[in-house]
Amino acid sequence: MHTRTCPFCRETIHPEALVCRSCQREVTPAPKSGKCRGGWLVALALAAVVTAGTAVLVRGYLEERRHWLE
Ligand SMILES: [Zn+2]
Repeated sequence: MHTRTCPFCRETIHPEALVCRSCQREVTPAPKSGKCRGGWLVALALAAVVTAGTAVLVRGYLEERRHWLE
């Protein structure tokens, strides 16, 4: 679990907290890494691969079926 410490009161606070819940002072949220954006791109790439794979499978299935009907 990721936690960080308030720079004013040294209380453990949520990494994305904007205000310390202990001393009520404004704290700078931890800088977000590009992980979120990268994950989104990976998800998109995976979706594309899955879609393409499904298309190929369906096409192969239809080809097979055409052979059965002939
Ligand atoms: Zn604090």
